[in-house]
Amino acid sequence: MKISSLFGKGRAILSFEVFPPKKTSPVETIYSTLGELKELEPDFISVTYGAGGNAADTTTCDIAAYITNELKIPSAAHLTCVYSTKEDILTRLAQLKERNVDNILALRGDVNPEIPRLHDFEYASDLTAFIKANGDFHVSGACYPECHLESANIIEDIQNLKYKVEAGAEHLMTQLFFDNAAFYDFYEKMQIAGIKVPVEAGIMPVTNKKQIERMVSMCGASLPAKFSKVMQKYENNPEALRDAGIAYAVDQIVDLLSNGVDGIHLYTMNNPYVARKISESVKNLL
Ligand code: FAD
Repeated sequence: MKISSLFGKGRAILSFEVFPPKKTSPVETIYSTLGELKELEPDFISVTYGAGGNAADTTTCDIAAYITNELKIPSAAHLTCVYSTKEDILTRLAQLKERNVDNILALRGDVNPEIPRLHDFEYASDLTAFIKANGDFHVSGACYPECHLESANIIEDIQNLKYKVEAGAEHLMTQLFFDNAAFYDFYEKMQIAGIKVPVEAGIMPVTNKKQIERMVSMCGASLPAKFSKVMQKYENNPEALRDAGIAYAVDQIVDLLSNGVDGIHLYTMNNPYVARKISESVKNLL
């Protein structure tokens, strides 16, 4: 089932993101997590993909197929292109189609300075156009309320986002953010630029101290004073920090839903306890 059919039904959608288990663990280790997430009845679940894009590694495809075929929940497979050839992508599209995965989050992926990149695809928009030309998939794209780290400014970044939508991205999911004002400002600029596809707000419940430091250094999300205060107060009390992180995410989601957001994409970090607490708090508000 294509994700596009979930929108425009007069309610916001709630989707989850999971990542494959580490290479040292068998793929089955995620199945019990997925079983618990299924009980929360998300609209779809997306599965991340290694930036390296190893064509022989079918883990993302395997997990997405399991979600679709066994759990009967729509799934989206993330797909990066910076280290892929056109042949690699065609192979991947065939694997996904054969296993009933209809949705792809088309990404460029991060360039590792130590590994020379390939040039079959320069940007996610090139991958998006290629997927559209070579298969019957719903294609989603990533967007960045606080600007992609490589862009000179948000105007340039939104212009580039428009190329991605014109290339065929039918739905966008944002990078995580902690300041809803940044999202509203970004959304308004998108509207002015004529980008009209549904946008899901990416929400990451921060539940431990290491996670905060990692997230901020990786994606440059700004930390509002209210957030920093809560995190500082509870940083040495893991249980309190987890509960405060959940409460902060719920507060963000309630505000987004009451402002009419199209959907919430919850970065679950493969933690069904946290996903359950949040889902149960917001389910009746969607
Ligand atoms: P692009 O849309 O190609 O943008 C990259 C940069 O190029 C931006 O600065 C953009 O403004 C610029 N640009 C785009 N088009 C043009 C153009 N035509 N001319 C000039 N400049 C241009 N990474 C993974 O490895 N695996 C994952 O599973 C994964 N999942 C993600 C899920 C979400 C929701 C998000 C938000 C990110 C995810 N990422 C993932 C991270 C992502 O791969 C990186 O942020 C990467 O640096 C950019 O990917 P993109 O698809 O947004 O790239």
